[in-house]
Amino acid sequence: MLQWYESNAHSDAQDYSRSGVVIWPLQRAPDSVWRHEAAELLHYFQQMLEPDTTSQANIDTIAAISTPPGRGGIGIVRLSGPEAASIAVQLVSLRQPLEHGRARLADVLDDADSKAVQAEGARIDEALVTFFATPNSYTAEDVVEIAAHGSPVVLELLLRRALDKGARLAEPGEFTQRAFLSGRLDLTQAEAVRDLIEAQTLTQARLAASQMGGALSRRVAPVKQSLVELIALLEAGVDFAEDDVDVAPQAEIALRIGTLTPPLTALEASFARGRIVHDGLSLAIVGRPNAGKSSLFNRLVERDRAIVTATPGTTRDTVTERISLDGIPLELVDTAGLRESLEEAEQLGIRRSREALADAALVLVVLDATQALNDEELRLLEAVQGRPALVAINKSDLSEFCTPGGEIAGISALPTSALSGEGIPALRERILALATGGAASEPGMLTSLRHHQAIATTLSALADAAQANANSIPHEMILLDLYRALWALDSLTGQTTSDDILNLIFSTFCIGK
Ligand code: GDP
Repeated sequence: MLQWYESNAHSDAQDYSRSGVVIWPLQRAPDSVWRHEAAELLHYFQQMLEPDTTSQANIDTIAAISTPPGRGGIGIVRLSGPEAASIAVQLVSLRQPLEHGRARLADVLDDADSKAVQAEGARIDEALVTFFATPNSYTAEDVVEIAAHGSPVVLELLLRRALDKGARLAEPGEFTQRAFLSGRLDLTQAEAVRDLIEAQTLTQARLAASQMGGALSRRVAPVKQSLVELIALLEAGVDFAEDDVDVAPQAEIALRIGTLTPPLTALEASFARGRIVHDGLSLAIVGRPNAGKSSLFNRLVERDRAIVTATPGTTRDTVTERISLDGIPLELVDTAGLRESLEEAEQLGIRRSREALADAALVLVVLDATQALNDEELRLLEAVQGRPALVAINKSDLSEFCTPGGEIAGISALPTSALSGEGIPALRERILALATGGAASEPGMLTSLRHHQAIATTLSALADAAQANANSIPHEMILLDLYRALWALDSLTGQTTSDDILNLIFSTFCIGK
């Protein structure tokens, strides 16, 4: 049986201080409320509050080359599992016994079974072997890392020997999956490991590192705690129903649900920025030939990447370059100028430009300040109406172009000169604002669609619970909505995530991580 009290209210009840929920030991629960469902619920809560630590029994030892394929200064073969150390000592000839957290020198010998460097040429490489004893390792299992010189031949030899001695080749992401299964990392932290490896800008790396440190989990934890408390309160009410005890008045439930939603709504909103920092955006630079698209592209890229000529129609294909704008990865696409053309190569370029224009998240329309708007440009401005777009009125060094209200055809416009550089910092700022929609960076932002869906489901379940409560629906039914909210929240950190989803997540890792 489970009863809900304020923390520390009863010294003989078990205090899960992390959650603020107090759970009575089963044997001390009052007889009148000793019920099977309550015991099941207690079991659920206990599991939820104290994630299982997997024992090392029945787990095989995995091995992989953890450094990228190809040659490098060093290369690492990593082993994890109960046999990691006993297998490792058979792969190399150690000069000292393994000790937790210490790097040991070893010789990689031609013949794995010979224990010493007997003859000239018997040694293939010299390696550093580091042992991490369970549970103080990346996977929380015994881990051995053998750092040899980064020759693929030597690394493959070591890996083959490990497999011969009983290790199994690791699946992609299996080391991190083991860290998750042992409870050392939650799911958001495990996903952050992959994000950190894949980071292309420092901002992405920082974001991944903070998520790896548990920033997102910490943001969700107090909400989950309050939700568990509310569930416990209602469960207690259901148990006491026959005794006519009203433990949770309608107003109290409404108030409690009301306090759960704002932090989740804020979290959901953080996806606007988190998503673009994580995934990046593309910006298509479009306009008539000779407006200065390539020159602006080069300015934004900060080097001469696209060809600039005074002859219209010379950009025949799209040119793409990735830049980082305040840490946000932005893929710039310079396109061929849009105009009627009879020439085949130019026509092809123009078709590609239209495709790039259709695909891009953001559009920069480049106009020439010295020229009046032509039909093609009017059509273009009409086509990007309603999309995140900006107009650069280029060649502002040659002509003043008047833009009433800073807009052209309802699209925000600003003067630039790719030649003098005037207006370029303002252009960067406007592109950034367009990309982020004004959303600021904050700790523990949602970065993946999976996280966003979990929070959206939690919010919708809470809205259903609030509605049910307002309609005086019995508590058993409100509880169903609250459990749905709890499960969605739990799927974020991985406490109730199905195997299919887990496999999908970890399969996107590289081998050896
Ligand atoms: P695109 O065809 O739209 O890519 O235009 P380009 O970038 O190739 O530029 C066409 C011509 O305009 C080149 O001769 C550039 O030097 C010139 N140009 C580009 N931007 C400016 C600018 O801001 N001011 C001036 N005066 N000339 C520019």
